[in-house]
Amino acid sequence: MPTDTLPHILITNDDGVHAPGLAALAEALTAIARVTVIAPDHNWSAAGHAKTMHKPLRADPGQLANGLPALVTSGAPSDAIALGLLGLAEGPVDMVMAGINRGENLSRDVTYSGTVTAAMEGAIGGVPAIAVSLGTRNRRADYSVAAAFAVTLAQRVLATGLPSHILLNVNVPELPAEAILGVRITRLGSRVYRDVLVRRADPFGRPYYWIGGEPPTGIREDGTDVTALAQGYISITPLQLDLTAYLLLESLAEEDW
Ligand code: MN
Repeated sequence: MPTDTLPHILITNDDGVHAPGLAALAEALTAIARVTVIAPDHNWSAAGHAKTMHKPLRADPGQLANGLPALVTSGAPSDAIALGLLGLAEGPVDMVMAGINRGENLSRDVTYSGTVTAAMEGAIGGVPAIAVSLGTRNRRADYSVAAAFAVTLAQRVLATGLPSHILLNVNVPELPAEAILGVRITRLGSRVYRDVLVRRADPFGRPYYWIGGEPPTGIREDGTDVTALAQGYISITPLQLDLTAYLLLESLAEEDW
């Protein structure tokens, strides 16, 4: 198929341009799309939704772990998507994908995740957007199952579209394809963060701090991303950029201000 008839997908990640999950996603999508990769030059995991405004951004030609071409940026994952949508990606972009992240992005993780916030930047830009994460801590994880699912989902969303300002957050269990139980459409669940404040002193006696601790766990509740992933399902959670707490709109408005 000539490439000008293919859909154009802009991808990034937050683990950095050399991450295997990004290479796997780019390679898999190449079968169905023209793929533009703009990826950060280092790991931005948990760096949230950033917009670099106070220094210039670089975006230089480079390559992924598998040799595919990429633009390597000094910016955040969300900057990478903004750069692409504002013209660094050649031609109109039909879809934004971020990932495949090393590690699940569940529940409140979505507010920290550079992967999810990169997809949010796509949704802000008016483009259907999908974040894909693999539930693993393994540096040598196999991304092929998640990449294959990303292709299936991309084809479906390219055909049907998404309502504006809505994105999909996808988490794939680290299981062989035949062991995955299926797909669950989920809501965000509850994560239990186990952060502790680690206080140390530098060689000059000045204190410094780490926010660290054990990896987060989750509470098993029906219908949630946390539970679906733990049970061995692929979880798809539709997310919206409208964070308005509708629950409080009326009662707050009724108060005497
Ligand atoms: Mn990451």
